[in-house]
Amino acid sequence: MINPADESVVAFAPECSREELDAAVAAARAAAPAWAAVSFEQRQKLLLQMADVVDAHVVELGRLVTAEQGKTLAVATAEVAGLSYWLRETAALTLPEVVNEDSAERLSVTRRVPLGVVAAITPWNYPMGQLSFKLGPALLAGNTVVVKPSAFTPLSTLRLGELLRDLLPAGVVNVVSGSGGLGSWLSGHPGIDKVSFTGSTQTGRAVMAGAAPTLTRITLELGGNDPAIVLPDVDVPGMAEKLFWAAFSNTGQICLAAKRIYIHADIYEELTQALAAYAATVRIGDPRQEGTQLGPISNRRQYETVLDLVEDCRRQGYTFLTGGTPEPGPGFFVPVTLVDNPPEESRIVREEQFGPVLPLLRFDDVDDVVARANAGEYALGASVWSADPDAALAVARRLDAGTVWVNEIMHLTPQVAFGGRKQSGIGVESGHDGLIEFTEAQTITVRHHTAATA
Ligand code: NDP
Repeated sequence: MINPADESVVAFAPECSREELDAAVAAARAAAPAWAAVSFEQRQKLLLQMADVVDAHVVELGRLVTAEQGKTLAVATAEVAGLSYWLRETAALTLPEVVNEDSAERLSVTRRVPLGVVAAITPWNYPMGQLSFKLGPALLAGNTVVVKPSAFTPLSTLRLGELLRDLLPAGVVNVVSGSGGLGSWLSGHPGIDKVSFTGSTQTGRAVMAGAAPTLTRITLELGGNDPAIVLPDVDVPGMAEKLFWAAFSNTGQICLAAKRIYIHADIYEELTQALAAYAATVRIGDPRQEGTQLGPISNRRQYETVLDLVEDCRRQGYTFLTGGTPEPGPGFFVPVTLVDNPPEESRIVREEQFGPVLPLLRFDDVDDVVARANAGEYALGASVWSADPDAALAVARRLDAGTVWVNEIMHLTPQVAFGGRKQSGIGVESGHDGLIEFTEAQTITVRHHTAATA
């Protein structure tokens, strides 16, 4: 594992062999019937106890996240605390049976039954956060789990597995780490009943293809290129700070971050200058150091992807309002880079940058900006910003995205489902709708022995 802040070796993680993966899946399969037979109430209690375990190790897990991922310690510990919060709130969800018919003739009920063994595959941007959308709901629904973190960030997940080992029955939660083919072996494994995957659209397609021969169930949370639309009536100085963090939190490595900001022409100059001025106040550096607000890009692969996009902007002659020149190493540092009104068809507008490089785009007309925001293959999130919530809501209702926020962004809760449309995914996570994706409907009907049928 490489520390992205200085490229030093943090640790060596196990490379799971094919045989070890088979053993992990076999352990999960063997544990599945007994876990499914544990009462729902008991599983709820165990989720609460898991949350206690996480809480007792927040700082330790947070340090691992900082070392492997590159976010600041404050943000990393908040991410870990988010996992325990999600476990607790998920434990409060229920899966009641639905009575379809209760007549003299028959009783018909539909209940939600577990799928069996779930593969939970997570990306490197939030190793603990992404797991929180999968682990609690999969277990509560009565499934056992094989978790595969990204090969870039396996340490916190491996440690979590160790911490949960004594709490849960053997085989209920298994963690495998490794690079190369491990993800595709796992998602195509015949012993897996469901793949819950978060990652890029390209890999999502491979997961879907790998699941086809066995009709393995899938939930795919994939890439995004979220538009933010800023109407002309906003308070510009306050807006600059909000938009900055909407785009650059976690150094831009968030699927639901604003990835292209459309600003009304009336305020374009003022707001873009204010954004550049605010960017100059933000401290980028080693995330372990006090006062650092943004860390490096998480790994060399993503660093090179982002640098390639910056270089493309330079080659095309676009104007940088700030940034644009990579920092010398060591460490995968890219300065906050604001690109001034590049063409709509440019790579920096059309592609998911997943880093601290942001196109600012001018618009005059709401119909035009809605069409531009809705163009492209992704449809994950979107936001609209205005002093007039009704005007913003009218625009929000026209946007094609799984979640649209008005005057805020990236607000997720364990009670509310989120997911992507178009090439941003299939299915949802969180809330009741997210929970039932870890189950299947089973209907049982009982024909009564009435006088007429006797
Ligand atoms: P990748 O798609 O590269 O990897 C995601 C996970 O899949 C990793 O654990 C990876 O392992 C594994 N994997 C790689 N190949 C396969 C395969 N053939 N079959 C199964 N699993 C495989 O994504 P990144 O880790 O680079 O994450 C960034 C992407 O994730 C961005 O596109 C981002 O938008 C998206 N994302 C989506 C979110 C959402 O909720 N919609 C949230 C956060 C991120 P390994 O790393 O070891 O190769």
